Amino acid sequence: MTNTLINWTPAKITALVRPNLLQLKPYSSARAEFKGPAEVLLDANESPWETGRNRYPDPQSTELRKAFGKLRGFNPDQIVWGNGSDELVDQITRIFCNAGDAVHALPPTFGMYKVAAGIADAEFRATTLTENFTIPVEELKASWDKKSKVLWLCSPNNPSGNAIDGEVLEDLIRSFPGIVVLDEAYIDFVPELSFVSRLEKFPNLIITQTLSKGWGMAGIRCGAAFASPFIIRMLNTIKMPYNINVLTTGVALEMLSKPAEMEQKVATMISERKRLERGLWEMDLVEHVFPSVTNFMLVRFKDSAKVYQHLLDKAIVVRNQAYQPNAENCLRITAGLSEENDRLLAALREL
Ligand SMILES: *Cc1c(COP(=O)(O)O)cnc(C)c1O
Repeated sequence: MTNTLINWTPAKITALVRPNLLQLKPYSSARAEFKGPAEVLLDANESPWETGRNRYPDPQSTELRKAFGKLRGFNPDQIVWGNGSDELVDQITRIFCNAGDAVHALPPTFGMYKVAAGIADAEFRATTLTENFTIPVEELKASWDKKSKVLWLCSPNNPSGNAIDGEVLEDLIRSFPGIVVLDEAYIDFVPELSFVSRLEKFPNLIITQTLSKGWGMAGIRCGAAFASPFIIRMLNTIKMPYNINVLTTGVALEMLSKPAEMEQKVATMISERKRLERGLWEMDLVEHVFPSVTNFMLVRFKDSAKVYQHLLDKAIVVRNQAYQPNAENCLRITAGLSEENDRLLAALREL
């Protein structure tokens, strides 16, 4: 049993990175190399008519990093933006995994961890969560070895909706022999549980967040990673130079300037989720509603296939999770607008 705590030195962290990337010189735009007042821009083969979108975006997303750093109380130099946190999942996997290295995750969970491992030809090692979706810590620890590079921890977890206990998280971050990525996609629903303020304590920790859920901006594709300066440097080394475009940047900056608006919508989503939970518990066709701290809930039905089809017939789409381990007969339902949720409950009462 590996209960040893790892003493992370910079050399040990460096040794986790694919060796060729340590030598790689990233693409550098002329504008990134240039410092000082720029009045005439003839360096990038752009069209000269100013439309607000004729110029390439800032490759470092500086303004966006500053705005998010300020909101999160975190050094903006230790933030990288991705084209959705999906892009970061792929990048993180490719930074640390050679073909044959191992990636660990705890299904039922977010599907992209496995896809990214497959793209990198890494071995995907799954440790199934317990029946109430807690982490079987000893079993997980017994599954890792020298090939283990990345451990994905999703808290709050999609699709189960619950958060990982803080002490369990700390224990796993301290004992995993590679990089631990804490996916905080749903942290805006429980901001007090974020580990961003503790990140400095853990040199092997990366935290990802997104503007897609609580912030309501899934359409603009904007997700962020928080990490040590070295890991941030590696993320910047492999990222495409202009991954955050000027349209996305403008919309994101505007939303980030109004956090109270987001918080109010989050509160509404949470109260609607609670209302759905109460309605669902009253129904005979429902076996269990798993406790959630997010804007969705996992529901076990007596016959999820029948419920799923009936909802589709009523033009209501929910997410089938029945194929995931320990999620037999389960559907994941997002809390929508009040009238949408009423429609869902009415459709279910017909069964
Ligand atoms: C939705 C989701 C993401 C993806 O976020 P994007 O920023 O939209 O790519 C990441 N992780 C989890 C757990 C999610 O549910």
